[in-house]
Amino acid sequence: MKYIFGPVPSRRFGRSLGIDLFPEKKHCTFNCVYCEVGTGKPEKEFIDFEPEKVINELKQWLFDNHNNLPDFITFAGSGEPTLYKSLGRLIEMIKEITEIPVVILTNGSLLFDKNVRENCKKCDYLVPSLDAGCRETFLKINRPHREFTDYDRYVKGLIEMRKEFKGHYLLEVLLVEGINTSEKEFYLLKEKIEKIKPDRVQINTVFRPPAEGFAQSANEQTINKFKAIVGNIAEPVKYYSASGNVVKHLKGKLLEEVILKTITIRPCTISELSDSLSVGEEKLNSILEKLKKAEKIELFDFNGEIHIKRKNG
Ligand code: SF4
Repeated sequence: MKYIFGPVPSRRFGRSLGIDLFPEKKHCTFNCVYCEVGTGKPEKEFIDFEPEKVINELKQWLFDNHNNLPDFITFAGSGEPTLYKSLGRLIEMIKEITEIPVVILTNGSLLFDKNVRENCKKCDYLVPSLDAGCRETFLKINRPHREFTDYDRYVKGLIEMRKEFKGHYLLEVLLVEGINTSEKEFYLLKEKIEKIKPDRVQINTVFRPPAEGFAQSANEQTINKFKAIVGNIAEPVKYYSASGNVVKHLKGKLLEEVILKTITIRPCTISELSDSLSVGEEKLNSILEKLKKAEKIELFDFNGEIHIKRKNG
């Protein structure tokens, strides 16, 4: 697999299946001091390729692992996913084959661009970053490409996206001791956060080896101070679990393929299929009806229970 990785236990998003759109080389508008992918010249070019390249891999992965689906599908990895032009179309295609929520982790630098916002609107959870309360700190910590150094435009993009986006908007602030951890910086950040109005603020720090050795983790006291200033909306990054309302089904053609594969191996009852695929019986019934009309399956009685088998299988 070239684009799909994991699932990895993510501090932010439970058991997360990753999509890395730039697996060959880091491709990002920033060059953050804390980047775990390493340092690299910041970029400004959008990249495009057929979304089928990713969707075919994802289909195969979900087909092979339909009994053990991840909690989230997350765009992450070696760069800035919004630099991929067909991101919106790709998410639409993901939504045709599964109900697993889609997450975009983004540095937010391109949200001033209407097309990028349109792409991002297709996801369920958007996690943009804001590490600095002013331009000076922004340049120091995120080290953006020279075309993305306009801090006010950056914050405006974050505000605009919030207004337009109907999904979960979680703003991430990553604290690097001594760089964005002064009290003054915290109040400047608070001011921007109040304008952006995210659903939550996730406070992160340097958990993995950073690009620059001087980028040190913020200690607990610093994190608590930031939380106290920003208020209840902020919380240290915590593990999102699969419990709660996370839906993780396959759907559409891919679900049909998995049903056909399952009953080819062994005829099943509807309740067995429902348990094995975690799909409600009502939904299954309508799919089975469709497959029956297409003469792909047949129903038969065995020991007083209706079973489904592959036609001519
Ligand atoms: S935005 Fe993310 S990928 Fe880009 S340099 Fe910063 S940490 Fe690395």
